[in-house]
Amino acid sequence: MTVTADVIARLKVAAGPKGFSEDPQEIAPHLTEWRGKYHGTSPLLLKPQTAAEVSVLIAICNETRTPVVPQGGNTGLVGGQIPLGGEVLLSLSRLNRIRALDADGMSIVAEAGVILADIQRKADEAERYFPLSLAAEGSCTIGGNLSTNAGGVNVLRYGSARDLVLGLEVVLADGRVLDLLRTLRKDNTGYDLKQLFLGSEGTLGVITAAALKLSPKPRSRVTAFVAVRGPEAAIELLSLLNGETGGLISAFELIPRIALDFVTAHIPQTYDPLHVPSPWYVLLEATSGSNDALQHVVEEAMGRALERGLVSDAGFAASDAQREALWRLRESISEAQKSEGASIKHDVSVPIKDVPAFLEKGCAAVERLVPGARPVPFGHLGDGNIHFNFSVPKGTDDATFLARWDEISRAVHDIVHEFHGSISAEHGLGVQKRDEIARYKSVAELGLMRTLKRTLDPNNILNPGKVVTV
Ligand code: FAD
Ligand code: ZN
Repeated sequence: MTVTADVIARLKVAAGPKGFSEDPQEIAPHLTEWRGKYHGTSPLLLKPQTAAEVSVLIAICNETRTPVVPQGGNTGLVGGQIPLGGEVLLSLSRLNRIRALDADGMSIVAEAGVILADIQRKADEAERYFPLSLAAEGSCTIGGNLSTNAGGVNVLRYGSARDLVLGLEVVLADGRVLDLLRTLRKDNTGYDLKQLFLGSEGTLGVITAAALKLSPKPRSRVTAFVAVRGPEAAIELLSLLNGETGGLISAFELIPRIALDFVTAHIPQTYDPLHVPSPWYVLLEATSGSNDALQHVVEEAMGRALERGLVSDAGFAASDAQREALWRLRESISEAQKSEGASIKHDVSVPIKDVPAFLEKGCAAVERLVPGARPVPFGHLGDGNIHFNFSVPKGTDDATFLARWDEISRAVHDIVHEFHGSISAEHGLGVQKRDEIARYKSVAELGLMRTLKRTLDPNNILNPGKVVTV
């Protein structure tokens, strides 16, 4: 749809001279996402600095039926933040103040546009820890993290973004500011309304600030890169380690040999930390307060895993530099995969016990469709969440392979569904999986989602066409 000149003029006056841009050069980086899969257009970029300003702008959009797409750091992977229908773009990045930090109360109040890494740093300076951590943390915003209910590498121990929220401030579709910005640990006064906005990808309201839970700062950290026999052995190892440490394992990432090969081939200054190649690896981390025994406990348990044949080798980080080098291997997988040509990706979860069977069945199905497609399944095994990716077969051109995307995804997602899994474990639906999800959710569930959307956004102005169609 075209936004009329009158509406644009009204929004510009309300935004003030610093609060908008029509400069195509300034708008351009906001129109394409990280993978280059979606390209949008927008006549106007709004850049409010306060919740009150967001409120005024959204009220105008609602009154004039002007669709608007909220955007944080533009690192989303399902096209949710891209204005695909020529909508007005609402960047939250100037709402970037930390409003409060209560070290004893273990909470921090941050505005939506604060970069995730800045929240982590603020917490650290106060001798506290904000555990949400993902490879995009240097550019994604907390508003985007909450709107997508982001996951990352510490979900196993600390939960996903949703679990870290005590309170929210949200601008509703009609412009009202809903103040749920409480830092209470206990509050059973009716419906937990903040949950509606967490993971709703900007379709039900615009998050302007959040009160977040902090954790104690880990004083000891054990990081190990472990060669395992296979995913089944890895799951046994996780059980063993969690039992022995009393639940102190915070990250448990599965890495297949091919991913390590890609990384060491394409990413400078990376190396295989172990001597003998293994078909599968796990990068794991355990953390606790001042606990010198943690390393010892993990090493002892690892010794037992070696005896049982679950593990064939393990390298422990002996310094922060070594720890960072191990994490670089994991965090460079997506980047390295780009250098191997096109890839078809899935972000799926199944019950953790079913991961090995899912991997076997899923790989076989894709091999039947595209012989030679190279499976690169990696990720958050501790959460049953696998980035089930395939690289183009050697000798096949990218376009031919990518033309099979829908067919391959359909086969993979059907198998995920057989295991009662999810076709979007942490990235959301956006536009990429909006229609696909209708195949797997019940009529009742989809119907209720639509009812919520119609109730909270009757004029369908908030990120229309994302998550559900109404
Ligand atoms: P954007 O991309 O700007 O927006 C994402 C969605 O939220 C859009 O629908 C947008 O409309 C909406 N939105 C943004 N801000 C607001 C707001 N204030 N109010 C209402 N709606 C809003 N994700 C994971 O979960 N785990 C990972 O491990 C992970 N790793 C990644 C690694 C890389 C290299 C990259 C590029 C991405 C990764 N992601 C991961 C995806 C992405 O980083 C997350 O989805 C992140 O939470 C998005 O934050 P953002 O600020 O960039 O949001
Ligand atoms: Zn991930």
